[in-house]
Amino acid sequence: MPDDRSTICLTFDFDAISLWLARGMASPGPVSRGEFGAHAMPRILKLLRERGITATFFVPGHTVDTYPAECAAIAEAGHEIALHGYVHEPVSKLDRAGELAAAVRARESIVKVTGYEPVGNRTPSWDFTPSTVDVLLELGCEYDSSLMATDYTPYYARRGDVADPDGPYRFGEPTTLVELPVSWTLDDYPQFEYLRMDTAVLPGLREPAGVFRNFLDDVDYMLRDVPGGVCVLTFHPQVIGRGHRMLGLERFLDACLQRPLDFRTCADVARAFRAA
Ligand SMILES: [Zn+2]
Repeated sequence: MPDDRSTICLTFDFDAISLWLARGMASPGPVSRGEFGAHAMPRILKLLRERGITATFFVPGHTVDTYPAECAAIAEAGHEIALHGYVHEPVSKLDRAGELAAAVRARESIVKVTGYEPVGNRTPSWDFTPSTVDVLLELGCEYDSSLMATDYTPYYARRGDVADPDGPYRFGEPTTLVELPVSWTLDDYPQFEYLRMDTAVLPGLREPAGVFRNFLDDVDYMLRDVPGGVCVLTFHPQVIGRGHRMLGLERFLDACLQRPLDFRTCADVARAFRAA
């Protein structure tokens, strides 16, 4: 980064109904959980407007096609909209052609409401394949935000890694695709969302004060020990949009706004990283 001032990338994955369809849960119950994400969008946009914060929204093409007005409102408010699959499909279940086709279709949906081609990507559920980097470069993407190799330091995503269980891991070559690292520890979904599946229960339902204390401690560690760092936070409108969590988010943002850091979009951060 060009200076020592640290950055927060506030990101929202506006999965809406696509998240549930991707899990094969198309009945009215789970669909309504996805619908709540769209219901919560105005309150999220209002909070960001009131705090003067510009964010990045990763939006599946299916959400754009289902909620064009809500997505247009995101773009009109000056936020970035970036790729997040077409219907939240896990890319590891697709071959290379399928992965490219989903991304191309999603890009067309985004262009329709924003008028611009998205420059960034977050893979659904942070799933990744050996082809993902090349697919994104083929689409003209400048950055991805799905991997976890660092915490506060953007890096260049690699192609051509070889995982050989009989020897050391062989790292491939860095590409020009900037990676803005994420973490489940800085994602609202596992913290808050209650989900019962056939084989497991995701308990979620944590108290926002504790979760946001963790988030703020990660921000404060960056400010103290990693000057010029970038902290990427991930939220989901259908998760964070509940009243008590919105109050927690408000308090967290207000605490961040009192600290010497900037809120920037992922595209801005990726471009500054490449320029430096
Ligand atoms: Zn998602």
